[in-house]
Amino acid sequence: MTRFDIERQELVELLRTRGISDENVLGAIGKIERHKFVGPLFVAKAYEDTALPIGFDQTISQPYTVAFMSQALCVKRGDKILEIGTGSGYQAAVLAAMGCRVYTVERHLGLLDTARKMFDQLHLNVLAKAGDGTLGWIDYAPYDGIIVTAGSPTIPEPLKAQMAEGGRLVIPVGDKQEQTIMILTRTGGEYILQKETGFKFVPLIGKNAW
Ligand code: SAM
Repeated sequence: MTRFDIERQELVELLRTRGISDENVLGAIGKIERHKFVGPLFVAKAYEDTALPIGFDQTISQPYTVAFMSQALCVKRGDKILEIGTGSGYQAAVLAAMGCRVYTVERHLGLLDTARKMFDQLHLNVLAKAGDGTLGWIDYAPYDGIIVTAGSPTIPEPLKAQMAEGGRLVIPVGDKQEQTIMILTRTGGEYILQKETGFKFVPLIGKNAW
């Protein structure tokens, strides 16, 4: 067992005490090596429950936020998930380790390139493309789950339209200082909304956001 393996298990236990109870989420966080998704300067902090810089003024999300949003998606193995905001690729890797087929969109080519190399290296079931994620990814719609990892002023309409019946959309919505995580469920052509307060994300930048 390496130092990283021990720190990763400690992180899983911390997330458990913070209220994460989905064993599929905890198992994926225990498996995916977060230290491979950050640059050399931040490797020593990789298993702290904190967001870390990944370049281009962006961050890899705090592990608690990744776990909370992954749990909120209520995924089943084999679900098709769209992620907006690939960043380091860590959130997509966690979802892939949970047994999902993941489609992810990132606007920064430099981040996308590094994340793609990691998906290949780890043989993860993730397809990534460059673009404005506020438009979704129509080619593979509808999705059982959609997760947005940057804060938006509103819920982009194309993302709602690309949800499958029974599907869930998890998205931070608010101003640029603080956001509420909105969990939208599509049932019988209607959308049911649930809110969780007190999160902070980098802004979602695009046609249907900032
Ligand atoms: N999921 C990421 C991870 O695990 O590292 C977290 C990424 S960071 C908190 C949010 C990301 O959203 C940034 O990489 C940013 O470039 C991206 N982003 C912002 N607006 C976007 C848009 N319209 N389309 C796609 N990506 C966007």
